[in-house]
Amino acid sequence: MTSEHVKCLIIGSGPAGYTAAIYASRANMNPVLYQGPQPGGQLTITNDVENFPGYPAGVQGPIMMQDLENQARRFGTDIRYGMVTRVDFSSHPHRAIVDDKHEITADSVIISTGASAKWLGLPSEMRLNGRGVSACAVCDGFFFRGQDVAIVGAGDTAAEEASYLANLCRKVYMLVRRDEMRASKVMQQRVKSAPNIEILYNTETQEVLGDEEVSGLLVKNTVTGEERVLDVTGFFVAIGHKPNTDIFKDYLDMDESGYILTEKGSTRTNIPGVFACGDAQDNIYRQAITAAGTGCMAALDAERYLVTVEMQEQQLVH
Ligand code: NDP
Repeated sequence: MTSEHVKCLIIGSGPAGYTAAIYASRANMNPVLYQGPQPGGQLTITNDVENFPGYPAGVQGPIMMQDLENQARRFGTDIRYGMVTRVDFSSHPHRAIVDDKHEITADSVIISTGASAKWLGLPSEMRLNGRGVSACAVCDGFFFRGQDVAIVGAGDTAAEEASYLANLCRKVYMLVRRDEMRASKVMQQRVKSAPNIEILYNTETQEVLGDEEVSGLLVKNTVTGEERVLDVTGFFVAIGHKPNTDIFKDYLDMDESGYILTEKGSTRTNIPGVFACGDAQDNIYRQAITAAGTGCMAALDAERYLVTVEMQEQQLVH
């Protein structure tokens, strides 16, 4: 196994990781960033991004991520393709193993591994992803204004996104697999009182229809067995997210869903020198701009940490 030592290791390459990289490299922290299995993160499977400030005409998700990567490279970030497969945060410097064959010790670690949307797992859902199928109403709802859409899920996210879509779309079908919703009472009340949301209980999605774009949805009532086609052009999946934090669970405090807990108003985790930003620690906002904001915070927190450690070491020498 090869090995090296770095000042700052950044794990993950979405808006949080690249923003952390821009700030860390401009602060002479010589960061090394590992991109992980999906370089660029969730935005690379989105088409148009219209809500990221600074792009008045909108931008394609993959292009924006390439821009962020280029910006991080310009200031000297060492960006590498590879996946951190194991970590050991039990002593300082922290240890990370990349692709099971390269060991890195790091004075500071910034975790920006993001989260992945859960999908139903239908082949047609994958095939039409980004062409009418979306896991983010706030990102993509605007493209369906005035149209009929469906959303699957019955938690707070689905209820919130159904309400968001109801303000834009002509009609929103909400597909609930059981005979009741999981969402909080207040959120349930909101969707039930919206005149253009129709809730279909005991309903499963069988197939997303359409060749190039979504043209309908085949659904089935699990009680009666009746199948029907919903005439929709958009299909939103809101059945939860999973933070990509499994490799850290032996060391970092997390909530019950696996989101990393950080100290209020900072990106500090329970381990000194380890910082978390982006969707790996945020199950509320989950936006590119908020991820970028916390990426900036993580780099500033890491820089302060490194300065403090350096000062303590100098005091020990003198
Ligand atoms: P949840 O895990 O709470 O809900 C997921 C929903 O998706 C459930 O209703 C579940 O159904 C349904 N589901 C799961 N798999 C399938 C499937 N294969 N087919 C159909 N339906 C499926 O996730 P959320 O993202 O909604 O929320 C995550 C956390 O974030 C929660 O704690 C929530 O309260 C919180 N949150 C809070 C908000 C707020 O306070 N404003 C806003 C958004 C989220 P079933 O019920 O049958 O299991």
